[in-house]
Amino acid sequence: MRTDVFGWFENASEIPSHDPGRKGVCAVCAIQVGQGNVKTISLIPDTIKIRSYFFRTHSNCWDSISEDERCLIESSLIDEIIKNHTEDLLEMVNSKFNESNP
Ligand SMILES: [Zn+2]
Repeated sequence: MRTDVFGWFENASEIPSHDPGRKGVCAVCAIQVGQGNVKTISLIPDTIKIRSYFFRTHSNCWDSISEDERCLIESSLIDEIIKNHTEDLLEMVNSKFNESNP
């Protein structure tokens, strides 16, 4: 998980468990968001209800790309979230299996 790109909330918490803040990286140009105008965009993959994710971009970056490009960025970020979740889940299942089968 790119912790410099993603922030997330656990369950319905109002305070993020992880927030890259101004040190985070713009999802469009991959440069630190820094000071100035930023956009915070929520990503809620349908399959995952336990966490909600968000990412940030420079306002200029987000405004200068097309709707199609925005969809592409969002879907590639959702893919990464799902991939990471799958790995976490597999790890959980494996460690449970190993506990019960020493
Ligand atoms: Zn940018």
